[in-house]
Order: sequence, then structure tokens, then C-alpha cells
Amino acid sequence: MKIHLSFLGAAGTVTGSRHLLEVDGQHYLIDCGLFQGGRALKQKNWEPFPFPPDQIDAILLTHAHIDHSGYLPRLVREGFRGPIYASEATCSLLEILLPDAAYLQEQDAAYANKKGYSRHKPALPLFTAADANLALAMLQPVPFRFPLDLDALSVTWWPAGHILGSAWLQVELSSSGGGKTVVFSGDLGRYGQAVMADPHPAWQADYLVVESTYGGRLHAETPIQATLENLIWGVTERQGVLLIPAFAVGRTQQVLYHIRQLEDQQRVPRLPVYIDSPMAVEASHIYCRFGDDHNLDVNLLMDEHQCPLRCSTTHFVRDVEESKRLNTMPGPAIILSASGMCTGGRILHHLKWRLPDESNAVLFVGYQAEGSRGRRLLEGAQSIRIHGESIPVRAQIARVDALSGHADEAEILRWLSAFCQPPARTFIVHGELASAQALQRAIQQRLGWETAIPLQGDRWTLGHY
Ligand SMILES: [Zn+2]
Repeated sequence: MKIHLSFLGAAGTVTGSRHLLEVDGQHYLIDCGLFQGGRALKQKNWEPFPFPPDQIDAILLTHAHIDHSGYLPRLVREGFRGPIYASEATCSLLEILLPDAAYLQEQDAAYANKKGYSRHKPALPLFTAADANLALAMLQPVPFRFPLDLDALSVTWWPAGHILGSAWLQVELSSSGGGKTVVFSGDLGRYGQAVMADPHPAWQADYLVVESTYGGRLHAETPIQATLENLIWGVTERQGVLLIPAFAVGRTQQVLYHIRQLEDQQRVPRLPVYIDSPMAVEASHIYCRFGDDHNLDVNLLMDEHQCPLRCSTTHFVRDVEESKRLNTMPGPAIILSASGMCTGGRILHHLKWRLPDESNAVLFVGYQAEGSRGRRLLEGAQSIRIHGESIPVRAQIARVDALSGHADEAEILRWLSAFCQPPARTFIVHGELASAQALQRAIQQRLGWETAIPLQGDRWTLGHY
């Protein structure tokens, strides 16, 4: 019997994670992510899914990030009928994230129609809130560390330390599938972090699919707190606004944690901090519910004054009108808003208002994909296009890598070095080509393993029994 693994996304690129495992006549999709970044990548979301969605028996999710889960509503719209298995925290996060993703799709389409800048007339959403709700109804939460038995395999979710609920998957094929083990790393977290726990070690795989977002790179040890301290003083003196594009779940809480630490150490003035996201309040509650995934004290999290994920004056901004009022608000202040790569969402309105003024600053705290506005700003663009308008860039642009939720190359190698023997083959995915190639060289040099960098659409035969 043959086992096949097809790479339907995140092959030679960072987003759109979708891996199809065919075993014993069953079809399992590992992750179901949206392509994100520039127009060419986004366009891939509109291509027909390369396998009939109604013939997929189940979806196994590593974590809730949209580049791993955001295509679920579209796949449901195209005929997938479930189930979708994911860790408990991932299911809770998806209840916030998928409706938000649908809202963004609907809003972007409506805005494009209003302004008439779309090439498609009328512009349509990729999926709707109704599709997102259908996908949510198919979710089946699975506890960490206990194998889930499905027809042709059993799967165990192990903590990956990347975001709440994030997992790497240990997939054990039934004896008719040769009893082989396939491990999917999902996105790996970092070691020794303030908020998230370390990734749980993996120890054995016949085949391994590993991410390479930071292949060839080490996170600069720029102390996050020193960078924040400088920027906060800078905008205070200039009466400007520090804008931090950050995903509402995970990155936002990490930034809040560090600002709070600086405030408690009296290293920065206590500026008003606005969390401009309808999701962030719920996200903070989820940290209370899933204490095993992180290093914070759950009792402190529940105390409004002592909560390490709140600053002295934290305002949660839910509704759109209140968000708009922030545009004309005088500084000094700090605004956190999504999306983290400036590909959509409320951050675009803030950038439109704040980028042309040199008293402001923008701090990037996460990975910026090729072609995204965030990447262009970091590359020193003099102007960027937002909603069809050219916006001049005069604000200070800064970055800090230390908050990355992703393991860097040394940390990926640390996780790999726990394997007791080399996998027969290691597939390197979820990285731009140069990063995947750098990780490939490092794995070959340090571990001597057989590796491959699959291309989008590649279908590999894993075994013949
Ligand atoms: Zn992720």
C-alpha cells in the first residue's frame, strides 16, 4: 500500500499551510491555511482546491493562526463536511479568529466596491461569516498528549510553544500503513520565553515535515524592553503615537507584558495603551483558561490590577466608531492593532493617519512576509499604497525580532537534535526559498539527514508496503 503526502501550500513560501496525507484510501488534511502577503499570494486563495474537498475525511490542525486555519471557511463553502480536530485552546481561539477573518473578507470586498479599486466587479469576499460558523460547528477539541484514533491512523497533539494551543502532530499510521510515524512540526515556538512554555521535544519520526520560517537566521538578542523604552520615550517627547501592528492573540499579549514590566520598573512614562481589536479581550480570557500552555500565573491574570498582560491604562477598543476616533487622537499614546503584517484590518487606517507624520513611530514585532506592506516599510519604502492611495512614510520605522513566536535556526536545530534517529526523509516547508535552503544546509551539516524542499503541488510517495 502506498502512502502519499502532497504539499498544497507553504511550499517555498511561509503562508497557506496545507498538507494532504493519503493513507489506506483515507485523506487527511494537515492544516488549512490562507495564503497571505502580496497580491500574487492572496490570489492563490481563489484557485480551485487541488483535491475534491468532499473527499477529505478529516482535517488536523496544528494551531489557530490564519495561515494555518484561515482557509477552513472557504473549504467548507467548497464542500468539505468535517470533522476538524484541534487542541482545546486552538478551538477557543478559532471561535474568535474565523468570524473575524470572515468579517475582514466581507469588509475588504465592501470597501473595494465602495472605492472602486478592485479589478473584480463586484469584489466578492473569499468566504462569509456564515461559512466561518459552519466551519466552527465542525471543530472537535482534542486534549494534548492523548492519541486520537481515526480510521487509518492515530494522532497525538504535543505542545509546540508557539501560541496558545499550538501543537506539533505525531501521526502514527496503522499497521496496514506500515506502522510508520509522520511528524508535522507546525510552527515551533522558542525556548526560555517569558510568556510561552518551551516546545515539547519530539523523539522519533520516519518522515518529518518541519517549518523553516527563520532558516538561516538567528533572532537578534536586541532586548525588547530597551527598544520599547527608547520608542516610548521618543513618542513622548515628540507628542506622537507609537503604532504596533500585532496579531490580537499572542503577540499583543507579549507586547503588553513587556510594557507592563517597564512601567513597573518605572523605566517609561505610563502612556495610555489602546488595544484596537474586538478580539483582544476574549484572547486575554483564553490565557486564563489554558494555564498549561504558558508560564504566567493564572491567579494574577484574573486580577485586573495585577494582570501581567495589562498596562496601567489599557483601553480595549471594540467598536469601529471608537476606533476611528483614535485616528485624530493627539499623542503621546500607544496603539496596538491588527493585522501584524499590515495586510488588512484596522491597522491600515492607523497607518494612513500616522505614517505621514514624523512625530510617530511604527514598531514591527513579528515576521513580515515578502510583498506585505510591513516588509516594504522595513525595507525603507518612501510611500506605500493603502486602499488605493499613496501614503508618504515619514514616521520612524523600527523592528524587534525578540518577540517572534517562531524558533530561529538554532532553536529548530535544538528541537531536531532530540530525535533518537534520523527520519528517512525530512521535508522542509513554511519558509521562503532562501530560508528553507539555509535550514536544509544546516540540517545536512549538523545532523546529516536526508532532506527535501517540496514545491507547491508536489506529491511524494512515502512508503510502499
Ligand atoms: Zn503560527
